[in-house]
Amino acid sequence: MTAQDTLRPVFTETFPPTMDAGVLYVSIPYRTCGHLCCCGCGHEVITPLSPAQWSITYDGENVSLIPSIGNWALPCQSHYWIRNGRVRFSRRYSAVEIAQNRERDRRELVQGTQEARPRPLARLRRYLPLRRQ
Ligand SMILES: [Zn+2]
Repeated sequence: MTAQDTLRPVFTETFPPTMDAGVLYVSIPYRTCGHLCCCGCGHEVITPLSPAQWSITYDGENVSLIPSIGNWALPCQSHYWIRNGRVRFSRRYSAVEIAQNRERDRRELVQGTQEARPRPLARLRRYLPLRRQ
């Protein structure tokens, strides 16, 4: 397979058993996008849509995904942006940069999850500390 420089959106409820290269599958019901890695390695890349993960914009023809796709867990470790249906590859990241990115992604996901599900009791306790004598 060869590297993709464009991705065409296909809106679907569920992804097909075998994804086609050059297609960005968008499932609104499952709040998830999927595509084959644009480097051409053939691995499926799943990008959940949530405030802490990815978001899409659709202009009626093309889709943009924010933020970039960093396939740090794949052997290819490719990194690229999908903007207006076009794929723009990043330079190759060092192992240290990849580790920093993964750590930042993990932190943001944890923060996002906490923001998405506030725990009023925990917040109340912070303001009204319970003290036992
Ligand atoms: Zn790849």
